[in-house]
Amino acid sequence: MYRALACLTDEHTPWVVPLAACVCWISCYVALLLEQRVRKGGASAPAWLLAASFSAGAGIWSTHFIGMLGYDPGVVVGYEMATTLLSLIVAVAAALVAFTLLRAVGRATGRDASWAAAIAGLILGCGIACMHFLGIAGVVLPGRFAWDPPLALIATAIGCGLSGAALVVHVRGGDAKTRMTAATILTAAIAGLHFLAMAAARVIPDPMLANPDLGLARGALAGGIAVMMAVILAFAALALMLDHLRTINAALARQGRALREKTLLLDMTLDSMDQGLIMVDGGGLVQVCNERALALLDLPRAMMLAGPSYKAVLRHQLRHRERNRTDHSYRDWIERGGSEQAHVHERVRPNGVVLEIRTVPLQDGGFVRTFTNITQRKAAEAEVARLARHDILTGLPNRGLFREYLDARLADIAVRGGTGAVLYLDLDGFKGVNDTLGHQAGDDLLRSVADRLRSAVGDGVVARLGGDEFAVLLSGDRQDAIAIAEGLINLFEAPLWVGAQRIAVGLSVGIALAPEHGASAECLYRRADLALYRAKAEGRGTFRVFASDMDEEAEARRVLESDLRQALADNALSLHYQPQVDGASGVLVGFEALVRWTHPTRGQIPPSVFVPLAEETGLIIALGDWVLREACREAATWAPSLKVAVNLSPRQFQKPDLPETVLAVLAQTGLSPDRLELEVTESVIINDMERAISILRRLKGFGVRISMDDFGTGYASLATLQAFPFDKMKIDRSFVAQLGVDPQAAVIVRAVLSLGRSLRMGVVAEGVETAAQRRFLADEACGEMQGYLFGKPRPIDDYAAMLRLPERSEEIAPRAVRAARATA
Ligand code: C2E
Ligand code: MG
Ligand code: MG
Repeated sequence: MYRALACLTDEHTPWVVPLAACVCWISCYVALLLEQRVRKGGASAPAWLLAASFSAGAGIWSTHFIGMLGYDPGVVVGYEMATTLLSLIVAVAAALVAFTLLRAVGRATGRDASWAAAIAGLILGCGIACMHFLGIAGVVLPGRFAWDPPLALIATAIGCGLSGAALVVHVRGGDAKTRMTAATILTAAIAGLHFLAMAAARVIPDPMLANPDLGLARGALAGGIAVMMAVILAFAALALMLDHLRTINAALARQGRALREKTLLLDMTLDSMDQGLIMVDGGGLVQVCNERALALLDLPRAMMLAGPSYKAVLRHQLRHRERNRTDHSYRDWIERGGSEQAHVHERVRPNGVVLEIRTVPLQDGGFVRTFTNITQRKAAEAEVARLARHDILTGLPNRGLFREYLDARLADIAVRGGTGAVLYLDLDGFKGVNDTLGHQAGDDLLRSVADRLRSAVGDGVVARLGGDEFAVLLSGDRQDAIAIAEGLINLFEAPLWVGAQRIAVGLSVGIALAPEHGASAECLYRRADLALYRAKAEGRGTFRVFASDMDEEAEARRVLESDLRQALADNALSLHYQPQVDGASGVLVGFEALVRWTHPTRGQIPPSVFVPLAEETGLIIALGDWVLREACREAATWAPSLKVAVNLSPRQFQKPDLPETVLAVLAQTGLSPDRLELEVTESVIINDMERAISILRRLKGFGVRISMDDFGTGYASLATLQAFPFDKMKIDRSFVAQLGVDPQAAVIVRAVLSLGRSLRMGVVAEGVETAAQRRFLADEACGEMQGYLFGKPRPIDDYAAMLRLPERSEEIAPRAVRAARATA
């Protein structure tokens, strides 16, 4: 060790060691850099192999001879040319073998094996040693070298070991940092071997060899070293450039890879889109077109691969006869320069597919267009819109859509003239069907009615306004409207079938004409409704055309209604009582209470006028309650044998608490239930059979009697009588009036009396005015009678005398009876 240090400090010029190390490190670094390039392969790999080997060999050689230049063994030194040159060749050859081995193993195994690097390092180390001892062998001086073999061996071993380590580090790494480390280790190997080997050598002067032929002088050697340095530097520059290029290439490759990945990702994204997408650049060329766009627009793939102009795409579409729903709006938009925002329009493809096309302008003048298939959405929207404007049950237009048609027709009439008509239709007897046969039957009935109307109205519009109300809009004149109305009414003369059920429903029609009866929908609605009201009031199953008096009548009705309301509030109604007598004896049996209204300005208003009005407006509930209470209160003061008959309206049966009301009134007035007789007409039963019968049963359960009023004027009298056990029926006064005039009347009255007997029901004959009528009825054993002959409806005070003397029958039947007897 001491020898080695002494050799460095004593026998070498001080600048030599750092200079040699510097040169050595640079050449090693360059050689390793080039070697790395060799292992990457490629066509120029052999050239790089030579360059790397030369760089390493020249480095080793230069290090040695720089060291030799600074070496001062104390005698003049020269260099043998051939040997010196050979030493260079050996160094280069060793590097060549080592690097070739690395390359070969790398190519054979597909990886850079450390063991191969170690062997290559060993070879290189041996090469360095050979070069060194050859170099020393080429030294010419007046003396000879005496060797210290162990130290020379150690030097060789260190050189080989460090070389191996350097190459292992080199192949394992690959980046600049490990390359620097490897170059440093290799430098240590070369320099270490050199200086240790120099320490192992000692020059023993030999006077015999004084003044030998020194061969290459130090200057020449320095020149050779300089050439080698230049070559190494040239390789260094090359290597640096190479390194730089490689960095750039790597960066470019990375970018290219990233770009390819992104493009792939973008393609995948575009192709997985539910929308079609086409991007057109400023030059009008299609740059992007995804799979969905090809499918939606039916574009040939080959055409799109060629990157066609967008015009070519449009031409293709035109050839396939596309209809553009709102393309003009798009053209306008383009002409306006296109806005910053997207433009949206719709297009119907020849195959019926509806596309929503959204165009977003790009800054370079191009645009991105997306195509969305909105066929289903459109169909759903249309269905929702249709449902919103149609009646679900019948499929007919509903009130809203009818109004739209009417408004459109009226607007047309206002601009171009012409006529139109609104027909309001109401089914007669529909409610009964609904109540008796159930809602399903009611729905079926409405559907068949709708079918009938649709088939009969032609190009008019039929709508269902709700419930059993229908409307028709016609564009004809009065004659056309009347003809259609008559046709419709006739159509309903034939019964309808609902399942196996045969149902007879009638039709009432009200007609309002445009422009004659109004220019606005509201006005026509109101007037058609008034005409319908009149049609129903005048017998049903008929039609009426609006007339101005209907307006007046409606107004009068409105005034009367408000007056009646006031009268009820003011307690301004009164009751008249009409006697009812025993048919055989003429003995008074009771009174029928009949409501009277004395209007403050119009005087007496007959119940046939205000009772229906009260029914329409619902006032009848309050009115009926008042009558019941008043009549019961009054009757409670009479002789216990006298009954009171009170009329109940059908509307009162819509209140389910009617029995409770009656019971409460009886309790409050103290009238015995068996003295109260409630008169109902057949319509009570017809309207809502189940409910009415249940209410009647409960009333009967209290002991109250129930009579059927106006028997013979209804529809299905027999069926009604079977459905509920009435206590009495009252033969309508129209039949009694005909007795002695129409022989048929006698037949009917007899039949009713016999029916009463067989059903064990009492019979009351109404409207008995003459003694002849009374005689006929008495002969036919009519149970009870009522009529002007026995007394007109009057305030109860007029009958005060009879109320407590029922047994004096002669007195009861007033003058008329006596007159009748006298004439008999
Ligand atoms: P209704 O129950 O059949 O009443 C009998 C009607 O016949 C009464 O007419 C009575 O004045 C009339 N009348 C009685 N005898 C004769 C006669 O010999 N000849 C003629 N020509 N007519 C006779 P009114 O009082 O005008 O009542 C008409 C209808 O008004 C009643 O018919 C009844 O349905 C209804 N009504 C009257 N008062 C009430 C009431 O308080 N409540 C309800 N719900 N309806 C009532
Ligand atoms: Mg009555
Ligand atoms: Mg009656």
